[in-house]
Amino acid sequence: MSSHRIHNFNAGPAALPLPVLEEIQAGFLDFGGSGMSVTEVSHRSKWFDDVINDTVDRFRRLLQLDDRYHVLFLQGGASMQFCMVPMNVLPDGASADYVDTGTWSTKAIKEARTLGKTVNVAASSEDKNYSYIPRELALDPQAAYLHITSNNTIKGTQWHRYPDTAGVPLVADMSSDIMSRPLDPGPFGLIYAGAQKNIGPAGVCLVIIRDDMLGRVPETLPSMLKYTTFSAKNSMFNTPPCFAIYTVQLVLKWLEDTVGGLEAMATVNRKKAATLYDLMENDGFYRGTAAADSRSLMNVTFRLPDEDLEKRFVAEALENGLGGLKGHRSVGGCRASIYNAVSLAAVEALAQFMKEFARRNG
Ligand SMILES: *Cc1c(COP(=O)(O)O)cnc(C)c1O
Repeated sequence: MSSHRIHNFNAGPAALPLPVLEEIQAGFLDFGGSGMSVTEVSHRSKWFDDVINDTVDRFRRLLQLDDRYHVLFLQGGASMQFCMVPMNVLPDGASADYVDTGTWSTKAIKEARTLGKTVNVAASSEDKNYSYIPRELALDPQAAYLHITSNNTIKGTQWHRYPDTAGVPLVADMSSDIMSRPLDPGPFGLIYAGAQKNIGPAGVCLVIIRDDMLGRVPETLPSMLKYTTFSAKNSMFNTPPCFAIYTVQLVLKWLEDTVGGLEAMATVNRKKAATLYDLMENDGFYRGTAAADSRSLMNVTFRLPDEDLEKRFVAEALENGLGGLKGHRSVGGCRASIYNAVSLAAVEALAQFMKEFARRNG
């Protein structure tokens, strides 16, 4: 059945664990003995209630969230959060700090400003084409929050240590590295993540929000744009993206029961990234685009000696069963996205191909 599946290095939507896809397939026509597909059952049914509650419980366990944190499932993708965050938790008259590490954080800043909110860009790595994570932050101790993008999917950089905000709540877009490593939720007032990189299919966005942040939500917002609407109704004020949430549940089950949790996942992820970065360092043919201390363990971005070789690299890789290696259209080059579901064996197959390609073309 799966013999023609390729090694999938897509940036998003991205690879899902094969056992998850097989479980979806096996249960697709008769979900939990209901005689219906999971795409056919009511979101008000006991079947779906069990799905959403178990998914929330698994997030709580894996991320060690205490009772102050609420786990919500929203639609509109991570991009919707670029406006919902400032609408809900940046009061008029207050200011928020943002770190600009490229594309997605740039968009988050733009949306906050479009709403007429006050944004202080506490640091930016634009001066070097967003190839690093800034160390020096001009933080405002009165800021409503500090917004960061924990992993920069397009530029290939990642925060390896979160900034110390002296009590100002951290807000993080973790779309492309959530659940890739253990997390201390303590400093975070709000975390959001589109599911389609590391935890599921497109169509659902995870929001984890703390009580004090919920307390800021203005009553004047429309229902569908207020976090409190979703926290009051266990994400079922209206019809949630049932199938996407169900898939997230299966991914978390795989993460807990098969992989063995976030520490074990992080160990594999470090090994995968090291396989590619070590190869690039020793080889000289491939040139990583991110500064060494800021390199992402999820999105490995690199260039070849010229663009013609890059095109051939991507095409020949696909002929060899290695897909999705083209860099984002805004930056060019190549990118291997090695999210949780991409196995060490897949990364080793890519490394082998890279070595051979360099030998033939170097
Ligand atoms: C993909 C991505 C987004 C955009 O997600 P959508 O769900 O398409 O809106 C935002 N932030 C980061 C870090 C991403 O990787």
